[in-house]
Amino acid sequence: MEYIPGMPKLSNRTRVIQVLNIPCRPGCDGTGCLCSNVVTQLLEELPDGTKGTRVIERRLPGSVTILAKSEVEVPAWVAQSQVVKQAVAQGRLRLVEH
Ligand SMILES: [Zn+2]
Repeated sequence: MEYIPGMPKLSNRTRVIQVLNIPCRPGCDGTGCLCSNVVTQLLEELPDGTKGTRVIERRLPGSVTILAKSEVEVPAWVAQSQVVKQAVAQGRLRLVEH
């Protein structure tokens, strides 16, 4: 039988909500990451007087929200990210690995 380890957990050690912005993984193609694509449609007037719609697609980095005194499971690559390491070093979060 194969052993499937549990996902690491991030535990919020503070009394305030922690929001971590997680940058994309290298080579992110919009999948396998926490980011999301946001599509905005802009109605604009073109030089010839007609109106056109411009579609702008932006990629928003993902974020992890941990309520005060609680914990959330995160993928291992998130637990190993610089943002999390920094928060752990600052004593804001504790990383619980299985
Ligand atoms: Zn991404």
